[in-house]
Amino acid sequence: MSEEYRNNPSIANFVEYLRIPSVQPNVNYEECLNFLKRQSDELGLLFKVYELVPQKPIAVLTWLGQEPSLPAILLNSHMDVVPVFENSWTYPPFSGHIDEDGKIFARGSQDMKCVGIQYLEAVRKLKSSGIKLKRTMHLSFVPDEEIGGHDGMKKFVLTDSFRALNIGFALDEGMANPGEEFVVFNGERSIWQIHVICTGQPGHGSLLLPNTAGEKLRYIINKFMDLREEQKKILESSPKFTIGDVTTINLTQVFGGIQSNVVPEKLTAVFDCRLAVTVNHEEFENMVKQWCKEAGEGVTYDFEQKNPCVEVTKTDESNPYWMAFKSLADELKLKLDIRIFPGGTDSRYVRRVGIPAIGFSPMNHTPVLLHDHNEFLRADIFLRGIDIYVKLIPAVANV
Ligand code: ZN
Repeated sequence: MSEEYRNNPSIANFVEYLRIPSVQPNVNYEECLNFLKRQSDELGLLFKVYELVPQKPIAVLTWLGQEPSLPAILLNSHMDVVPVFENSWTYPPFSGHIDEDGKIFARGSQDMKCVGIQYLEAVRKLKSSGIKLKRTMHLSFVPDEEIGGHDGMKKFVLTDSFRALNIGFALDEGMANPGEEFVVFNGERSIWQIHVICTGQPGHGSLLLPNTAGEKLRYIINKFMDLREEQKKILESSPKFTIGDVTTINLTQVFGGIQSNVVPEKLTAVFDCRLAVTVNHEEFENMVKQWCKEAGEGVTYDFEQKNPCVEVTKTDESNPYWMAFKSLADELKLKLDIRIFPGGTDSRYVRRVGIPAIGFSPMNHTPVLLHDHNEFLRADIFLRGIDIYVKLIPAVANV
């Protein structure tokens, strides 16, 4: 079986892309660009590279539609992958080894070189069957998603070049699901990383001084942890909730102090908060402000990161692209499970500039192995994904 899969041209293309070690940190994207340029030429697409930051290229492959003045469709994927602990892998992580069960092993097989190749292979099939699309289709291959997209999609969406693409709707990465459903993501939580700085009376460790930083820090930690406990209860209260539905809070760093017998004048706690899409940002910040006030004199807060509130992509009649997606899924009898993405993807930048975006990686019956050892995707699931895009691309491009 593995032999048969190895000879499949779509899988051969996938394996070739997987073998390019575009691994963080300090990725050399040159080989990815060469690969994509060749694909683009084979498919008769327009090929353009935008380099907003040196060594951080964004490749856009364009298939012109018959009505190019209409808003276009963006099919996005990122070229980079996360690091590997090679000793923990059964097969070398950049080999694209196909085992007897047809599992294709490589870093990026799920996250998300699979999707990039599925877009290309679907376009190949559509073009060879002579289909023409109404709307223009842009396939973007972006750098550095795995380190926050700051030099990639985040900057790109703010450029005139991006605006000129005139995007009306975007598809980006989702996640595997071990069950029958295909998970689609229509929003992301907002990341807030908050430093709370507690200052107080310094002095000798043998005394019971008033107004110490430690007492204030305890108050702050209690407040954040109480909220954490509440959210945990909500998450556990119903099987229909996933982690993306609640606000998560974690105490990730504590620092301060000089030595064991000196009461410090400053202690800092850092909280990683992911605000559920239903949270009012102003109210949340006012609550933190209030806690600092209650904790005592000299307690302040700072943001290391504070994502703005971004509207979720509508999954109702008001979004014609979604309706096209949904009716195709019904036609193909794909069960969809709409969720809020637990982490962050480049979709948040796309949504931030007002473009509806859906995160979708067509991988059902697949264990979630992104960023894990022995990441793999079964060849049959990969090929089925191409067939899905062969239907999905015209569905959204002909809206
Ligand atoms: Zn990814």
